[in-house]
Amino acid sequence: MAHTESNETTRNGTGKISPRVELITLGDELLLGLTANTHLTWIGAELGRRGVLMQRNVTITDEADAIAAQFRESWARAEVVITTGGLGPTCDDRTREALAACLGQKLIFDPEIEEAIRARFAKYNRVATPNNLKQAYKFERGEVLPNANGTAPGLWVEQDGKLLIMLPGPPNELQPMFTDQVMPRLALRGLLTDGEAYLQMRTVGVGESSLETLFESTFSRNPGLGIAFCAHQGQVDCRISSPDGRYSREKLHSIAAECAALLGDNLLCFGHDSPAKVVAHLLKSQGRTLAVAESSTGGMLANSFADLCGACKFFQGGIVGYSNEAKMLLLDCPECLLAQHGAVSAECAVAMATGVAEQLGADYGLAITGFAGPASGCGGNPVGTIYIGLHAPGGDWSKQLNYPGPRDTVKKRVLNDAIDWLRREVMKEARKASQAQAN
Ligand code: ATP
Repeated sequence: MAHTESNETTRNGTGKISPRVELITLGDELLLGLTANTHLTWIGAELGRRGVLMQRNVTITDEADAIAAQFRESWARAEVVITTGGLGPTCDDRTREALAACLGQKLIFDPEIEEAIRARFAKYNRVATPNNLKQAYKFERGEVLPNANGTAPGLWVEQDGKLLIMLPGPPNELQPMFTDQVMPRLALRGLLTDGEAYLQMRTVGVGESSLETLFESTFSRNPGLGIAFCAHQGQVDCRISSPDGRYSREKLHSIAAECAALLGDNLLCFGHDSPAKVVAHLLKSQGRTLAVAESSTGGMLANSFADLCGACKFFQGGIVGYSNEAKMLLLDCPECLLAQHGAVSAECAVAMATGVAEQLGADYGLAITGFAGPASGCGGNPVGTIYIGLHAPGGDWSKQLNYPGPRDTVKKRVLNDAIDWLRREVMKEARKASQAQAN
């Protein structure tokens, strides 16, 4: 594929010019705000990691005219156009027909796709209706991308030195197709970097501006380094790359190692792991187990760990003790403690952490109790006051946090902070254990 330098030329973090990629996401439900456009974030992240910065995403209605107009505009500008949605069997699925007309291609019936559709229906003891066979048409000059999780196959078309990739709307269908079929084909055509195009340091506990200041002298000794910061929910990611290719992968690693030494325990990880995944790894390597208790986060803390593959190796379980009665009944919080200090208190957080660790026989107990808002809050505890409690082999602690903001933001923020606090404690315990072993 020929690349031309223009004002909008981007390089892939290793010095090579990236193809210009545009994503057209189709669907009235996206424009109505009924479905979040996760294809943008998901495809954007997949391509970004392999050195392709998506140049544009446009979301349009399901109307044939709108599809054709947007496609012509993107096709004139981009080298790769990806469309999502509108490949289904119903009358509002018009992508295939609209784009075939734009490219002057005939749609031809493919008995192999028909066979796959009928087999899928038979697997679920159902019979395909005639409109399902609309999905058995492919471009006369193009390839079919089989869909293992649905009836609408994707289509891959190379024309005019450009690529058109059509994918179905449902994320559970699109994502494996993109990973297993689209990415390898793009790589084969030399459009992706071999490994990750950038090196990411995920940090916690340092603000964005402080982080930049911390790295200033390291970065200034390496001119031409690609540097980007992204703050989210108490974490800041710093990505480094080599836009003009002057730094090798090894050199980027050595710059990152220098940054890591400056960060100490504020480095969560290299890469993209969640705080829960990092903690899980630490707990498993120490042979330790965890149980959690929570009120205002209503199960989110437990879910952060239950979401991880292999959680049963360290995660004993979680208890949601929302009311005072539940805290007494399920977590053994003493009635007099709740009466004296209240449910949003350091004492209650520690009692919950200890209670859940004892109930579930875990080494560590982590607890969250607080007022997530927007209403309530009482005494000296305004809305956004949260206590986290930790029961650990080395002792019991609590910590008070205060977050302004909407309920949802407060909950996500406290979750990350609580898990990070646990991470730091597990790291301390691990260091103590290895020191004891060395002595
Ligand atoms: P189907 O065979 O299911 O009709 P399709 O290719 O026609 O597939 P759509 O009908 O456009 O796709 O969308 C199907 C589902 O995928 C809907 O639930 C829709 O909300 C979801 N979806 C579509 N686009 C996106 C997107 N950009 N982000 C997340 N979900 C999406």
